[in-house]
Order: sequence, then structure tokens, then C-alpha cells
Amino acid sequence: MIIVIRPKTQKEQLDKLKEKIKKLGLQIHESIGQNYHILGLIGDTRVLDLSQIEGNRIVQKLIHVGEPYKKANRLFKPEDTIIKVGDRAIGNGEFSVIAGPCSVETKEQVIEIARQVKSSGADFLRGGAFKPRTSPYSFQGLGQTGLEYLKEAKKETGLPIVTEMMSPEMVEKYADDIDIIQIGARNMQNFDLLKKVGKLRKPVLLKRGLSATIEELLMSAEYIMSEGNEQVILCERGIRTFEKFTRNTLDLSAIPVIKKLSHLPIIVDPSHAAGLWWLVEPLAMAALVVGADGLMVEVHNDPANAKCDGQQSIKPEKFNNLMNKLSKLKESMR
Ligand code: PEP
Ligand code: MN
Repeated sequence: MIIVIRPKTQKEQLDKLKEKIKKLGLQIHESIGQNYHILGLIGDTRVLDLSQIEGNRIVQKLIHVGEPYKKANRLFKPEDTIIKVGDRAIGNGEFSVIAGPCSVETKEQVIEIARQVKSSGADFLRGGAFKPRTSPYSFQGLGQTGLEYLKEAKKETGLPIVTEMMSPEMVEKYADDIDIIQIGARNMQNFDLLKKVGKLRKPVLLKRGLSATIEELLMSAEYIMSEGNEQVILCERGIRTFEKFTRNTLDLSAIPVIKKLSHLPIIVDPSHAAGLWWLVEPLAMAALVVGADGLMVEVHNDPANAKCDGQQSIKPEKFNNLMNKLSKLKESMR
């Protein structure tokens, strides 16, 4: 339920109404913009006497919210959420690009790639230190050492780092060292992990689960937000379909749908969606056209010998090309 407050309402009257609602055991999510002032109610709103609220002079109207996600809902907050990371931002109308290897392999490798993607215009460095692999016999990442290498790459280039955390314990131990905490597709519904990152006041990149609906993705964002952390960036990375040619099927329609349903920024990961390096460029261009807030792209200096996801990684030169094409496309869309 949303209560739209009349413009120029006096604080005392508003406080009185808020007090009354809180006494009934409901939470209030207040949002004030240039042309609106709304109270989003969270909890069982059947306890409300609707005709009494509608009769209140400071209430313009009541809006019923049918969706199960509230804080992530655009009705609760009509303005786009902008996630700030140092002097950078995601969701501010620019097209932010996160790039780097699937996994951190050596210090030299990650620093070299970081330098290259930065010179091509990337805003953030990605790299897995702890890897969620389908097989327990595959490379599992360098762990803490990998994180140290990422920090060195950040020191060298200034690029903030994005890396995946797979458990609440990991978050406890390493969150301070990471600029954006990635929750991978396989952990999108790891609710203990979501609640843990919800207690932080730090950006979280939440990837869509392999078989998750848009509503399930938004409910996972709600888990994080319900704990107080509203800095959530969503990521469409392809979903399972019957098609086998590509690793997953990039759900491009999810971008405008999510933009309509939610105020949270959404980026696209064409690498994990396609699973094939030569599809990264066309899918990245498409992501920009359908209104995504940015990209996450896997870049490797030696894809043929990468320890993870080499077949979907593009070389730094190709990444540079892609960034040039994106900037021309962006210009043509203004
Ligand atoms: C990744 O970004 O390295 C990754 C494992 O992606 P996903 O969780 O989308 O499979
Ligand atoms: Mn990968």
C-alpha cells in the first residue's frame, strides 16, 4: 500500500499519521522527490482502516501495491536509484562498464588486464578470487591470495573492484576489501547470504539465477533491501532455455521490464549469457540499446589458456574496439 501525501503538508500532521501507522505494526518507507511525497507501507496492511486514512486531509490518494517486492518497487520510489562508488556511479544515465578476467590467476595477469581495460575506459575491475564452479575438480580460484592481487591491481589503476562472495562467513571476513560485492547466479537465492550483505552499507551486484524469474530476482533484491542495504545493482546474465548453442539465453526483454517495475539499476553480462567470445560484442551493443545501465564483460589477455571461461572472454584489443563502438552508439542515441 502506498499513501500519496499532499504537497505542502505540515510536519506535525505527517508525523501524527506516521505514528498511527507504526503503532499498527507496519513499517514505513518514505520517499520524497521533486514532485511527490509518498509513504510506502510494508507489512500486513489489512490492519488499516482505509476509509479513515483516505479521509485524512493530508492524504491525496492510496495506491494498492500488488507485487510482493516493496522496497525494490518503482511505486515505492519513482526515481532511479544511483549507486555511488567513490567518484563513480551506476544508474546515473551513463553506461558503466565492469571488465576483467573470469578469475584472478596471477598478480601480473590481473594487473596487466586492469591496466588495459582502464585505458579503454572501463569503470570497474572484475575478477573472481573465490569461484563457484560446477565441478569440484575445476579451478576454484586463488582465494584470499586472489583478493590481495585484486587490491594491488586497484592500487595500480585506481579501478574499484567487483568480486564474488559465496557465504556469509566470507562476507564477514573480506567485505571491507571489496568495492562492490558480487552475488553470483548460483547464490541468488542463498537467503542467509542475501541477509548478510543486506546488513552492510556497501553496493551489491546481484546476478539473476539460472532459472529465476524476474519477480524472483526482485524478491532477492528485496531480501537485501529489507535488511537496510538499498544499494543493489541487478544483473541479467542469461537464463536456461532449451537452446543449446549458447551457454544461456540472454533475456534482453528483462531490461525494460525491470526498468518499469523497479528503480534499481540493471546491467548486462553478455559473457556468461553467450558463452562465446564472438557474441559478446553484439549482445553488449543490444544491452545499451534496450536501456541497460551498464555491462559486466570478461576480458582475458590469453583466453586460450585461461583457467576459467576462456571461450567467452574477449582479448583487451577486442574490448577496446567494443568500447569505441559503444561510445559511438551512445552518441547516436542522444
Ligand atoms: C562470474 O561472474 O564469474 C560468474 C560466475 O557468473 P554467474 O554467477 O552469472 O554464473
Ligand atoms: Mn566466468
